[in-house]
Amino acid sequence: MARRRRKYKKQPLLRPIPRLPSVFECPNCGVQMVSVKKIKEERNELGQIKAVVRCGKCGLYGELWVPEIFQSVDIYHRFLDMYLEGELEVELIKKPEKISTEESNASSGESLGEYWESGERAKEET
Ligand SMILES: [Zn+2]
Repeated sequence: MARRRRKYKKQPLLRPIPRLPSVFECPNCGVQMVSVKKIKEERNELGQIKAVVRCGKCGLYGELWVPEIFQSVDIYHRFLDMYLEGELEVELIKKPEKISTEESNASSGESLGEYWESGERAKEET
């Protein structure tokens, strides 16, 4: 007494195609703009390849050595671990248009120096 099963036709087109993410969330600014790049030309003595991680928003940049089989997501997690542990040297490479902010910071530093100088002068006068 085998019961006939209704056959469902699977519609593969309706299923989302599993795709590995290529951009990740930045541990510095929280924006999902971190890209991972493998540089297979550069290897260390362990045969690991260099990976470069960079945030397109805040310019967070780090380099690390990873096994060649690592996918972008593996590299990102390694990067994240190292970043949070403070084991990774990172830089903030800002976009050219943000240089103006740095310049204004520098000039405010200069005026601060002037302020201290004048303060000292004022002291001497009293
Ligand atoms: Zn960022």
